[in-house]
This record gives sequence, C-alpha cells and structure tokens, in this order.
Amino acid sequence: MGLPPVSPTGLVAAGISALVMVAIVAVRYLLASGGFALATRSARPGLYRGLTPQIRTEIIWSLASAAIYGIPAGIVAWGWQQHGWTRIYDDIGAYPLWYLPVSLLLYLFAHDSWFYWTHRWMHRPRVFRLAHAVHHASRPPTAWAAMAFHPVEALTGAIVIPALVFFVPIHVGMLALVLTIMTVMGVTNHMGWEIFPRALVRSRIGGWLITASHHQLHHERYRCNYGLYFRFWDRLCGTDNGLAAEGWDALGGRS
Ligand SMILES: [Zn+2]
Ligand SMILES: [Zn+2]
Repeated sequence: MGLPPVSPTGLVAAGISALVMVAIVAVRYLLASGGFALATRSARPGLYRGLTPQIRTEIIWSLASAAIYGIPAGIVAWGWQQHGWTRIYDDIGAYPLWYLPVSLLLYLFAHDSWFYWTHRWMHRPRVFRLAHAVHHASRPPTAWAAMAFHPVEALTGAIVIPALVFFVPIHVGMLALVLTIMTVMGVTNHMGWEIFPRALVRSRIGGWLITASHHQLHHERYRCNYGLYFRFWDRLCGTDNGLAAEGWDALGGRS
C-alpha cells in the first residue's frame, strides 16, 4: 500500500537531499533578497534607514522558513530522481508545446488560490496571533521579509508545490520558472517600492496582477488584498482595495 518500501540507504539519501535543498532555498533567499536590497539602496536610498533590527528579525524567520520549505522539496526531488515519483517530466515532447504555458498558469493559479484562502484563514484573530503576526511585524516590509513567516505559515506555503507535482504534469524547465516567479515576486512585493513600470501596473492587464503597489496595501490595512499573484480571488470576494496611491513609493516618502 502507498509508496514502495525505502531501504535504509534510501532514507539517508532522502535526508541528504532534504539538507541540500534547505541550503539551496536559504542561499536563494539570501541572493534574491540581498540583490533586491542592494537595488533598493541605489533606487531608493535611505528607504530602509532605521530598520536594521527589523531586518535582522526578518532574516532569522526567513532562514527558519528556508528549512521548512527545503525539507519536503528535497524529499520529493529525491523521490523524483530515484523512484520516478511525481509528474515532473524532462522530455519536452512528452506533452504538446501549448501545454508548457498552460502548466505555468495552472501552477500559478493553484498556488494563488491556496495562498488566498489560507491567507484569509490566517487573518482570523486567533490564527493571526499564532501564525501570521510574525509576517505583519514587518512594518513597513523590506526585501528581506519575503520569507519572514511563522513556522505554521511556512508549512502551509512549503507543501503547495511539492504536492502539486504529484497531480499536475509540468516540465522541469517550467517548474524552474514557477519557482523563479515565486522568488522574485515574494521579494519585490515586500520591497517598499514598485519595480514594474507604471504602464504595466496601472494597465488593464496590471489590474489582474499583484505587485508591490497591491501587496503594500495589505501590509498597511491588513484586511484586504490577500492574493499572491493574481487579483482574481480578491475581486471575486470583494476584498480588493486596489493599489496604493500613485507616488506611495516616491523617493524619501514612506507611506
Ligand atoms: Zn506580505
Ligand atoms: Zn496577511
């Protein structure tokens, strides 16, 4: 029943894979957040002035989250390599080419839906105090807050992609793209300024996408703008408060 038996050597290999993935997720976080923090220093000098103690806390929570994200991902990666678990494929011809962008959208939409509903759940007062107050302790958030989660919140985020790969086929390159989008948006949405051009953010397509101008309002007002990538659920459920006023991220001004 269930998964085939795994030998003791297999268990050791799975453990090593988990540890390696923890290191990869931690380094990815440090490079991505560090890179955008450096960009912030030149694009918005002084934006993080006085926030050093907060940033230190954000880094500690984020590194703890890296461990929680890395373990299931590392075990699933090992199972994929050694036992053919998951529906990740590396032969580009295994599915029609049109499925590549479709799979990308499926993953982003599934992740976004899971995030929206678990995020709303975490804003219930008792759950908030336990699991989500850590994330909102970043006031205002910085590029280092991308993974600043309480372990309970980190766990809800960590299981999404490792679970999806068992059900929804995806090419390994598309999976890498999903993880890249997840990382970049996680950092830039908390960075304290808008990196995407106004022509996109305030366009009709932009009206369905979540960038810093949208997520910043969540950190200011708490009970709105819960989504991750898309404004679909927020709009459908009446929780969309739109974007922060133009100029919210102007040089020297912190909203
Ligand atoms: Zn946030
Ligand atoms: Zn929240």
